[in-house]
Amino acid sequence: MRAALLAWWDAGHRELPWRKTREPYAVLVSELMLQQTQADRVAARWPAFMRRFPTLLAVAAAPMAAVIDAWAGLGYNRRAVNLHRLSQAVLRDYGGVLPASVPALEVLPGIGPYTARAVASIAFGVPAAAVDTNVRRVLTRVFDGTRAPPPARVLQQRADAVLLPERPGDWNQAVMELGAVVCPAAAPRCTVCPLARMCAAAPDVRAVREQGATYRTAARPQPQRPFAGSARFYRGRIVDLLRAPDAREGLGPMAIGARLRLDFDASMRPWLEALLEGLQRDGLLYWPGDDAPVRLPR
Ligand code: SF4
Repeated sequence: MRAALLAWWDAGHRELPWRKTREPYAVLVSELMLQQTQADRVAARWPAFMRRFPTLLAVAAAPMAAVIDAWAGLGYNRRAVNLHRLSQAVLRDYGGVLPASVPALEVLPGIGPYTARAVASIAFGVPAAAVDTNVRRVLTRVFDGTRAPPPARVLQQRADAVLLPERPGDWNQAVMELGAVVCPAAAPRCTVCPLARMCAAAPDVRAVREQGATYRTAARPQPQRPFAGSARFYRGRIVDLLRAPDAREGLGPMAIGARLRLDFDASMRPWLEALLEGLQRDGLLYWPGDDAPVRLPR
């Protein structure tokens, strides 16, 4: 499995801008962006963010508002807040040098088990397996076929066992890449997969295809809530409004409401205030209350 997958990776993979570097801060920024944003959107925005904030120290020295501003277009703005808090924690506790170990990375703001292992392996060569959705799907199909995925703890142990310790960063990226481009949830492309000979799911995929159907991993039905009109939608819109050049000194709550919704009136003020208070709790804005201007935090 190791030989087949690494040979496939070495023969060529997607050219993504952050793959040209192993510099820890650059890897960290890419992994934070990739947590909840698709690779093509990250590829379009990572270079500009790196030009504006080329080092962790540049993030630590900048006002929070500037980091939130530079995060525009990526969504889930709390990650920008976390990056700013992380940069200041690293400056305070490690002299501005990102730590290399998984336990030290894991406790920094915004970094969970996956991101800590991805950064440690890619940037520092630490033999730690990173398990994201793609890795979970590939390892489950190869070892368990069509059975349900094992518990997370078992999956992590398995990922650790198959990891190539000499090239942990390449290994982690290779498994993720395979899941993203060859083995997606629907319609895996086993005919071009380097793991087809050893994969427990491959015969089932072939059988389903021969029946003219599309193979897909059974997923628990998720209730689909529309994004437009959701609290997350309006939270993102409020931060976008505060990024605008004419909002640098802040906007009053009623002005925000009027820009958010055509049907906004005073009866909607409690709804708006709940959103503003939630964003303030998350560190995404500053609002003293009442009719005082709302602005990005400094
Ligand atoms: S052989 Fe098919 S199911 Fe197995 S890992 Fe490759 S693409 Fe996925």
